[in-house]
Amino acid sequence: MSKQRRRDTEPEVALRRILHARGLRFRVNFPIPGMPRRSMDIAFTRARVAVFVDGCFWHVCPEHATAPTANSDWWSRKLSTNQARDAATNEHLVGIGWHVVRIWEHEDPDDAADLVMAAVRGEGGSGTRGKGAESLVEARGEVLGQCL
Ligand SMILES: [Zn+2]
Repeated sequence: MSKQRRRDTEPEVALRRILHARGLRFRVNFPIPGMPRRSMDIAFTRARVAVFVDGCFWHVCPEHATAPTANSDWWSRKLSTNQARDAATNEHLVGIGWHVVRIWEHEDPDDAADLVMAAVRGEGGSGTRGKGAESLVEARGEVLGQCL
C-alpha cells in the first residue's frame, strides 16, 4: 500500500476493501447503541465487534501527533476532548458487550485486517460472544493498535 494519505478516510477505505475481499461482511458508520450522534467506522453486529480507524492527528497517535503552534490552547483542549470522547466510547461499548478494535491510520491495512478478523472470530478476549472452532487459536490483538 502507498504510504501517501491525502484524505482521512483513505486508510479506512483500504481496510474495508481488504476485509471485504477476505469474505467478511459488515456495516459502515453504524450508530453506537445508546450513544446518539456517535457511530463506529466498521461494525460486525452479530459478533459485536466495533472497529474504529483513528486519524493520527485527531486522535493523538503517540507516533505522529503534532501540536499546532497557532491557537495552541484551543487545539490542546480540542484534542484532549477527542481523546476523552474516544475513551468514553470504548468504555460504553465494552459495557454493553461489544469488543472494540482501534486502528491507527498509519498501520498497515493488512495487519489491521488480521486484527479485525481475530476479533470477529472471538479470539480477542471478550467473553460474551459465541465462539467457533477458531477460538482455540491464540491470537491476540494487543500487538497492533489498541484492543480492549
Ligand atoms: Zn500515527
